Amino acid sequence: MSKNFYNPSHEGIRITHPMAVYGFYRKYRTIVEIALLIAFFLFPWIKINGFPAILIDIPHRRFSLFGLQFWGHDTPMLFFVMASFSMGIVFATSAWGRVWCGWACPQTVFIGAIFRKIESFVEGGHIARIKLRKAPFHKEKLIKKTVKWSLFFLTSAVISHTILAYFAGAENLVSMIAISPFKNWAVFLTTGIVTIVVMLNFGWFREQLCISICPYGRLQSVLMDENSLAIIYDEKRGEPRKGLQPKTEEPGDCINCYKCVAVCPTGIDIRKGLQMECIACTACIDACDTVMATVKKPKGLIRYESENGLRGRPSGFWRIKNMIYLGLVSACLIGLASYISNRPDLDITVLRAQESPYRVITKSREEPLISNHYTLNLKNQSFHEIEVDIKHAEDSRNKGIEIIAPTYPEMIAPGKTTKNHFFITFPKSLLSEKGQLNFQLHIAATSNNKTTRNYIKELTLAGPVK
Ligand code: SF4
Ligand code: SF4
Repeated sequence: MSKNFYNPSHEGIRITHPMAVYGFYRKYRTIVEIALLIAFFLFPWIKINGFPAILIDIPHRRFSLFGLQFWGHDTPMLFFVMASFSMGIVFATSAWGRVWCGWACPQTVFIGAIFRKIESFVEGGHIARIKLRKAPFHKEKLIKKTVKWSLFFLTSAVISHTILAYFAGAENLVSMIAISPFKNWAVFLTTGIVTIVVMLNFGWFREQLCISICPYGRLQSVLMDENSLAIIYDEKRGEPRKGLQPKTEEPGDCINCYKCVAVCPTGIDIRKGLQMECIACTACIDACDTVMATVKKPKGLIRYESENGLRGRPSGFWRIKNMIYLGLVSACLIGLASYISNRPDLDITVLRAQESPYRVITKSREEPLISNHYTLNLKNQSFHEIEVDIKHAEDSRNKGIEIIAPTYPEMIAPGKTTKNHFFITFPKSLLSEKGQLNFQLHIAATSNNKTTRNYIKELTLAGPVK
């Protein structure tokens, strides 16, 4: 068993107490973690186009993503968003290995940047933590464990409320907090359960999720190949390890100090080769580089490298597999952009009513009028109310064409669909020999910010053949 494990057999899982590490990658990972945490906690509060940067309102089936608003029925949009994200991760894995796990996965970020920091603050360095864990229960242990788990609970409560804000909106979160939990017991109970799950996951289960549950961890072996970047120990340079080499041989650069194992959050020894448990957190690179600097050897005994690179072969980034993944990511993004640019706020369907295509209205001493009956189906796809009115061009009014639409103008609520009837009447003399008349129906949609967009629908009005 590695030195930094506490693994009581009755628990069945491995709890690690990794040593703190400092170095080049640790510095940049800290910057990335802070940026990601700020984004996580602020996104529900930031408004873009009047809506939260991210909103996943499942009960009302509406979603907001950095200024884009879409509904549950916008299946192509949901598909393109999810496909772009999934294909982006597949491409990144093929090119740069588990870069997502090491740098951006919430599991890694929350544990490394918050929960382990709290633990070290309360219980001390990794040796002190292991000693405390193995020690029998006494007053100091009870106090430290109580303080640590209380801080874990408070942090988890903040995280679970932020998660709630993503689903309910920040304003709703504030009003829910302001009222008694018993008036909103379902939300209160759900948030309580999420708090407990978050606390146990980040505070206790930790990287075991990456090793035994996360499906992406299992998928990586399929997605990566000998050209993918991974965190690799340079065996040729490091072996035989100092102190373990035959007397006749010169030792390699590895001084067998076990620092790379002591800092590993999953408790593996990277010198045994690429392993599924490695979440590419870069801690062993920093630890080993510090050791190499101390023994005055070049850095990079453990480094980002591909298997081909390690063998001195070229590792091509622009290989067919990567090109296909990149092509699929680009296709998904182009599909998303095209769907967004072509998606109007108002979805309009004009259908001829199902009874006879026209009626002839005859009045004494006047030219007969033809009446066509239509239904207008409108879907408000925006997050604003829209006032809809239907009109026709001025010149068609001069020709005696009239629209009879008693229900318009009509106000349509966000996400709602309406269906109304209207009639178009016109003098029989306007019909062609085939009994047809081309007509442009103008639909004016005014949103509550007073912007008006005009939609034109081409109709072929029908009447008796001459
Ligand atoms: S930290 Fe470097 S030198 Fe020390 S055991 Fe690991 S690989 Fe060897
Ligand atoms: S082997 Fe290195 S990179 Fe992989 S999880 Fe352990 S410390 Fe992180």
